[in-house]
Amino acid sequence: MASAFSHIAVPVAIRIAKGPRTIPWRLLVLAMFASAAPDLDSIGFKLGIPYESPWGHRGFTHSLVFAALFALLPAFGERFFRSSRRAIFLTTFVSMASHGVLDAFTTGGLGVAFFWPLNSDRYFFPWQVIEVSPIGIHQFFTERGLAVLSSELFYIWLPCLLIAIAFSRIVK
Ligand SMILES: [Zn+2]
Repeated sequence: MASAFSHIAVPVAIRIAKGPRTIPWRLLVLAMFASAAPDLDSIGFKLGIPYESPWGHRGFTHSLVFAALFALLPAFGERFFRSSRRAIFLTTFVSMASHGVLDAFTTGGLGVAFFWPLNSDRYFFPWQVIEVSPIGIHQFFTERGLAVLSSELFYIWLPCLLIAIAFSRIVK
């Protein structure tokens, strides 16, 4: 995984690009949760589910189908999220689907099962540039943690923020 901290760069960028009227706070919070949630599958390690299983880490929760199904539910809460059905669905879907995309750029672990349930193959992009993140929070405040953080700032936060700011200027 990239760290949970850096997965939220995508919903933050969407909010900057689209503005608070399209992406109100409640929707932003949901999208931030959706961007990090696929890694809840790491509980599978404790349950003895093998990494390479479709039910293991970077398996079904990291797929495009799972992101679409997950995004369907809140899309019916237009009043609660104070946004349109389309905006809720797309923001949630893109935030969650981006998780696997970022993971597929990392330097370690197994690839991402993007196309589950059609096939359970694991994929990486040809450019594995983001340092893979340590799993535990205590490992984060080490030299290795700092290397991960600087790699994520450069390869995730910087491009996300630049694209978001450019987009917000073009649309306005
Ligand atoms: Zn992940």
